Amino acid sequence: MKDETLNHSVDEVREYHSDSCGIFFRVERSVYRGRSQFQSIEIFDNPFFGRVLMLDGLVQTTIRDEHYYHEMLVHPAMMTHPDPKRILIIGGGDGGVLREVLRHPIEKAVLVEIDDQVLDVSEKYFPWLAAAKKDPRAEIIVDDGNVYIENASCSFDVVLIDSSDPVGPSSVLHARDFYIRLKKILSPEGIIAAQVGSPFFHAAVLADKKEFLAEIFPGVRFYVGPVPTYPGGTWCYAFMSVKPDFPEPRNEPLEGLKYYNPPVHQGAFALSEALKIRLDADQPD
Ligand code: SAM
Repeated sequence: MKDETLNHSVDEVREYHSDSCGIFFRVERSVYRGRSQFQSIEIFDNPFFGRVLMLDGLVQTTIRDEHYYHEMLVHPAMMTHPDPKRILIIGGGDGGVLREVLRHPIEKAVLVEIDDQVLDVSEKYFPWLAAAKKDPRAEIIVDDGNVYIENASCSFDVVLIDSSDPVGPSSVLHARDFYIRLKKILSPEGIIAAQVGSPFFHAAVLADKKEFLAEIFPGVRFYVGPVPTYPGGTWCYAFMSVKPDFPEPRNEPLEGLKYYNPPVHQGAFALSEALKIRLDADQPD
């Protein structure tokens, strides 16, 4: 796989969040540009956010703000499950979610990423995947998550859906059928956490998702957290369980966190009036 260097001077990359607004990055140095069988892959350095990974022109992760997202997708579920040992990560090819999962005293973390080119370039150009891969508890599988769960031979205590936006290969990971089948591989206390988009730009999609998740899972809760480089700057996550209620989160201290802590966990589930109305979520006090 050769590093394609730019043969034209691209000094700015734009991601449109609507047809009239978005985010732009000055490209200080283009590190990699290529296309896998699934998507375009671009990595560049920006003076403020550091190294940036974009897939099909959408920001996936930046060095400066990745921890907001990766910590908030992982630790609320990991701290709410009474004793998580077997973890499944679907997507997450940049490795940030895997790094966070491995902070916990688990037995096994299986990461299922459809695009081996994302794994290759992330290991080469982002610091954390190479380190996480060395952990004997980590297993990385190149497969479609939608197919993997069909053939999964064991159950999981926590499942983390670190998919890209519902376009391209990720579309299946946002569908009702996927969650119906995902429920079958949850252990009795199992919890699923999924990134479900921007409460600001994708509220209607969120409401639809809430409808079908509430039909599948006895327990569904939404929570939010900041991700500066994602559309709207706030991101929404969904918590699902085969049980109607979620236990109080454990608050065992974890080394190296930059964002998540017990008060942040509690506050994340306090939804705004607009979002509550939109989701019509029955959030217990
Ligand atoms: N944090 C990012 C976000 O919220 O947009 C997502 C990060 S991660 C890079 C998303 C990963 O999901 C990508 O590497 C993509 O290749 C992978 N992916 C997309 N569809 C998939 C599928 N059906 N099965 C497994 N991985 C998939």
